[in-house]
Amino acid sequence: MDFLDTRDRAALLASLGEQTFDVAVIGGGVTGAGVARDAAMRGLTVALVEAQDFASGTSSRSTKLIHGGLRYLAQGDLALVREAASERKAVHAIAPHLAVETPVVIGAHSIGEIAKLRAGLWLYERLGGVPPEHAHRQWSKRDLAEREPTLRSDGLAGAVVYPEFMTNDARLTLANVVDAARHGAVVANYARVERFVVEGDRAVAVEVAEQAPGRGDRVRLSARVIVNAAGPWVDQVRALEAIDATPRLALSRGIHVVVARDRAPVQATLILPAGGGRTIFVIPKGTATYIGTTDMFYGAPETWPPVTAEDVDYLLGAVNAQLNIEPLARTEVIAAWSGLRPLVSQPGKGSTEISRRDEVWTGPAGVITVAGGKLTAYRRMAERVTDKVVAALGRKADACRTARERLPGGEATPSAVLAELSRIGVSETDARRLLGLYGALAPQLTGGVAAEAAHAVLHEGALTLEDYWIRRSGRAWFDPDGGVAALEPAASAMAPLLGWAPERTAREIAACRARSASDLAFADGASSSVPYEMAAQSS
Ligand code: FAD
Repeated sequence: MDFLDTRDRAALLASLGEQTFDVAVIGGGVTGAGVARDAAMRGLTVALVEAQDFASGTSSRSTKLIHGGLRYLAQGDLALVREAASERKAVHAIAPHLAVETPVVIGAHSIGEIAKLRAGLWLYERLGGVPPEHAHRQWSKRDLAEREPTLRSDGLAGAVVYPEFMTNDARLTLANVVDAARHGAVVANYARVERFVVEGDRAVAVEVAEQAPGRGDRVRLSARVIVNAAGPWVDQVRALEAIDATPRLALSRGIHVVVARDRAPVQATLILPAGGGRTIFVIPKGTATYIGTTDMFYGAPETWPPVTAEDVDYLLGAVNAQLNIEPLARTEVIAAWSGLRPLVSQPGKGSTEISRRDEVWTGPAGVITVAGGKLTAYRRMAERVTDKVVAALGRKADACRTARERLPGGEATPSAVLAELSRIGVSETDARRLLGLYGALAPQLTGGVAAEAAHAVLHEGALTLEDYWIRRSGRAWFDPDGGVAALEPAASAMAPLLGWAPERTAREIAACRARSASDLAFADGASSSVPYEMAAQSS
């Protein structure tokens, strides 16, 4: 199957119940998608079930960087730095359109600070095997003023610059889901696991409940091994396996805000200090600039954690203090998102201090749970989990090939795709957007919103307008108007494909508008009294 079409719900649910799979993966974020792809490529029979849309949890709410983890160096976690740096290369190799190099600039206040940063980067480059062409550079104060004039250089002695990679987290997840399906996995979005079936001391099946509107079907999904990759919901799923399971996660909430690029016209990604030894990113993306993030413990998992006025004031405060711009106001924020990091709890540590390493546990009924980790190292994490699955199955499987075989869209080089888009008359800005979404397929998707929305339904498993508007296209967050103009044409293109009556189409549009209004509700909120010193740290 070269595409993902999840519209025939009855057939899809039935196919989950038709056989005993080698492995059932719970959770269609980047972790579960990565495991499903790896397991399917090794020749296992795989089912992947996602309660909502693919990547609708943390895997669409990140800072969208495939990064080497420079800050883990300061925490002394050399193994994590090494893995992150090598995984950066792996993701770039299999999906160059989803790992686009971006220079990162860190300003320094003194020669001593520059020397310290360079020593750290030197070690980082050695540990990560960074090739010479990707080595960091030093900018003088004058270089900085010329190349990044938006950054206030008064008080700065210069800067260091090193490359990282920008991704599209939701599309990276989707590429893994689609490739898992290509390799034979049965994948279902809007299919929630609500119960485990335990026989003897083994979980042998899960009960899956259809979540698509108007249907209440349930199916028993049987599998020899079950993987819990439910991200922030990992503890909830563990409680289905063993009611008395001790919670292992500490959730940390982080937000991002988007403003028009011409209001924060940075050339490169900037790392800015944000008080209390913490830093934030300012990242240019097409016609937008996005800013993040915060890092605050959060209680129970939820799909749409809040974006508070305090969060926004903190980010804007740091940017307004350090960029040569008219101060940005809350009302200028075009879009905002909030997400939860599923960190493995380390009692006594603050949210920014908790390790970003992943951990894998086997529960009392044999369920393999994976938690923690980063988008950056998802592939390696999935490989470790799949190794455990193969061991639990007790039989031979093919070797892991996920670092060698390209993800869908990664078949052509970005320069070849851009050249083709230019040849057919697509503007530079649109071409870069399409490349970042579809990679090699971009030249076939130049027909605008309607063509993209139809493709999302027919080939990418979209079942709601939000699936296209937020996760498949990014229009809700990165279009200059917050995606408003795209709503009607996208809904009109999706309606006949999904059998929506006019009332349903109107409800889909209203739901997207309400989503955006809710995320921007902070604009009317009370001003924070501590705008600049709140707890926060980079992704
Ligand atoms: P999720 O994406 O949340 O996936 C879990 C899925 O399980 C969800 O889709 C959920 O709906 C589903 N699920 C839950 N319960 C059930 C059930 N009962 N049945 C079926 N499905 C279920 N990492 C980086 O490498 N670079 C960054 O720049 C970066 N920035 C970040 C910034 C922020 C603010 C945050 C919050 C995280 C950031 N991360 C970053 C970390 C990264 O985003 C996460 O590590 C990663 O996305 C976690 O993916 P996941 O698949 O484990 O969880």
